[in-house]
Amino acid sequence: MTADYGRESAVNGIDLTIMSTTVYFDNNATTPLDPAVLEAMTPYFTTHFANPSSAHTPGHMASQAIARARARVAHLVGASAEQVFFCSSATEGINWALSNAKYPIAASEVEHAATLKYVRHARNDEFMTLKVDAHGNLDLDAIETLLCREGPLSVAVMWANNETGVVFPIRELAALCERYASPLHVDAVQAAGKLHMDFAHLPISSMVISAHKVFGPKGAAALIVRDPTELNTWIHGGGQESRRRSGTENVPAIVGFGAACDLARENLDQRQSHVRQLRDMLESGILSHVPKCSINGVSSVRLANTSNIGFEGVDAEAMAGCLDAHGIAVSTGSACHATTIEPSHVIRAMTRSFQKASESIRFSLSHVNTQTEVTKVISAVSEVVAGLR
Ligand code: PLP
Repeated sequence: MTADYGRESAVNGIDLTIMSTTVYFDNNATTPLDPAVLEAMTPYFTTHFANPSSAHTPGHMASQAIARARARVAHLVGASAEQVFFCSSATEGINWALSNAKYPIAASEVEHAATLKYVRHARNDEFMTLKVDAHGNLDLDAIETLLCREGPLSVAVMWANNETGVVFPIRELAALCERYASPLHVDAVQAAGKLHMDFAHLPISSMVISAHKVFGPKGAAALIVRDPTELNTWIHGGGQESRRRSGTENVPAIVGFGAACDLARENLDQRQSHVRQLRDMLESGILSHVPKCSINGVSSVRLANTSNIGFEGVDAEAMAGCLDAHGIAVSTGSACHATTIEPSHVIRAMTRSFQKASESIRFSLSHVNTQTEVTKVISAVSEVVAGLR
């Protein structure tokens, strides 16, 4: 089937016509670049190309642009600029933060691979797993028991889950960790721009966000730390990022990250209320048109843009492929290895069922999506599910 390229998506100035999909519902994987962000970045590819470490005027202009971007990123999360360290991706930021972990690590079983694989690698498989229940929630009493029994731990959890949108109670968890002198490392990649954050008033030790999840470019992310003096040197060399991460900065991406953070902060409530309406419309449409399906994590606090739906008896990979043929981009949360596809570890952790994990699809929306797109997805989903069943 030929996709009807992109006409519905040309709203809010973001035009997806070059994509081979009509409807992009995979915004937790990455977001399109906001045209205003591209505009802010462009001079740093062209006229303002100087190395920010150079002592001449063009060099100063580039380093000032980085300083402005740092303040903007800090503003989005309620931190101060000195607490923000730029790096290339959230994966790098998470690896960096955890390389700095003082104590044995306890991580939730639904963390992103950036956390789980780093911890397995660095701690030789010796780390503690924080379980989630059927709704994707953490058990704070069990965590308290663990902290009490094991002494201080470095706790690594995400603010919001990329597959289900389930939001962890970070405020309560941060207070609990503080009581047990246990540093809390937060993967805030999916929460940034979707939830209000106040790093200054939360006892979080470190936090990571990524530009390409907030309508910024790929190639920039931030590690935000409570106490910069305690942060290790991650990359040795010319001394950039206050001597913690050497290497000439990706100036255009950092500038774009700053611009995207400003837009995310200024428009957060408006974007989230629009996206919540669309997500609710999508869920009620699918539930009423498609028999035997259920929303994973539905009774939990969830991000407004994410819906993870299990379709009984339907292979999610096949379904995602059929939707793709209809010009609809969604994701299954599966990890692809060289020869196998591994169904979502997140849905498996919640349902304890390999089967359910292989029947679940993630729809992740953004403010550039429209009601027309939602209607199209509802009808394509019911057609595809009926066909596959
Ligand atoms: N953490 C979460 C929750 C994510 O969703 C992602 C990306 O999907 C990452 C970490 C990794 O981000 P990046 O692509 O910037 O490395």
